[in-house]
Amino acid sequence: MSGDEPRGAGPPTDAAGDRTRRRGGWRVLPNPKVGAVIARGAEVLAEGFHAFFGGPHAEVGALRALRERGLDPQGTTLYVTLEPCTFQGKTPPCVDAVIAARFARVVIGQRDPNPQVDGGHRGPSARGVEVVVGAAEAEVRRLNGPFNKQMKSNLPYVTAKWP
Ligand SMILES: [Zn+2]
Repeated sequence: MSGDEPRGAGPPTDAAGDRTRRRGGWRVLPNPKVGAVIARGAEVLAEGFHAFFGGPHAEVGALRALRERGLDPQGTTLYVTLEPCTFQGKTPPCVDAVIAARFARVVIGQRDPNPQVDGGHRGPSARGVEVVVGAAEAEVRRLNGPFNKQMKSNLPYVTAKWP
């Protein structure tokens, strides 16, 4: 991370994670909870989060919010808690929107454990975008515990409580 990151409670990937925790909740299941922030230097320009299953993903929501403000993403930094997806699901692959936006930097909290997501970080990188992967790995893994477990083992995530 360079010295001109947006200021606040922590690095921007933390901010994206906080927003996701507050808003996305469990309505996104079986998708992971994802938050995104677009910033220029220390200034946060737009935010997005994955609000419900089948709805737009966080990166696309943040781009939409940015364009609604009449701003161009070119040269800005995208912070996203999870690697952009690369496959057509309920929505088109986010990596295409991320590449088209011509960000200067893309900071990814955690690589996507979904085997269908291959190269969500490589696409932008191959086009000269500075990509940082795993900027908040442990925190995002905790945020999406059930999703990570299911992607890795195809088993449910169980929370047990002893007396
Ligand atoms: Zn996506």
